[in-house]
Amino acid sequence: MVIRMSGGTPLDAAALLRDRGLTVTAPRVAVLRALTSGPHSTADEVYATVHRELGSVSRQAVYDVLAALAGKGLVRRIQPAGSPARYETRVGDNHHHLVCRSCNRLVDVDCSTGETPCLTAADDAGYEVDEAEVFYWGRCPDCVATAAPPST
Ligand SMILES: [Zn+2]
Ligand SMILES: [Zn+2]
Repeated sequence: MVIRMSGGTPLDAAALLRDRGLTVTAPRVAVLRALTSGPHSTADEVYATVHRELGSVSRQAVYDVLAALAGKGLVRRIQPAGSPARYETRVGDNHHHLVCRSCNRLVDVDCSTGETPCLTAADDAGYEVDEAEVFYWGRCPDCVATAAPPST
C-alpha cells in the first residue's frame, strides 16, 4: 500500500492508524500529517511541526510516535550516512533517494528499472531480503548552479 504524498489523495491518518491496529491519538495524526506535508523530515523537524499544531507535546512523545509508526510500516525511516534519520510516509515502494553533499537536500527517485528489482540481489547469500536502501550522492541543481563546493 502506498500512502499518497501531498498533491495526491488526502491522507486519512485516522483510518491508516486504525487499519494498523493503532489507537488514534492527536500526536499520531499530527505526526502523519507533518510527514505528508514535509516528507524526509528529521525527528526534530516533525517535533517542531507537531508542537506548533498541538502545543502540549513532548519531544520524547513525538520520537515514540515515530518509532511506533515506523514499527507498523506507516512511515519509513531512512538514514543517509552522516545525516540524522529522516522520515516519510511514502512506504512500500522501495524508492531511492538523491542526496546533495552541499546542502543535504534529499529527494525521492523511483527505482531505476521498475518494480523493486534491487531486492533481487545478485547473490543473496541465503538472506531473506525485504529492503534495499540506495542513496545517490552528488550536488543538487541549485548547488551546482551556485558552484558551492561540496562540503566533504
Ligand atoms: Zn544542494
Ligand atoms: Zn523518500
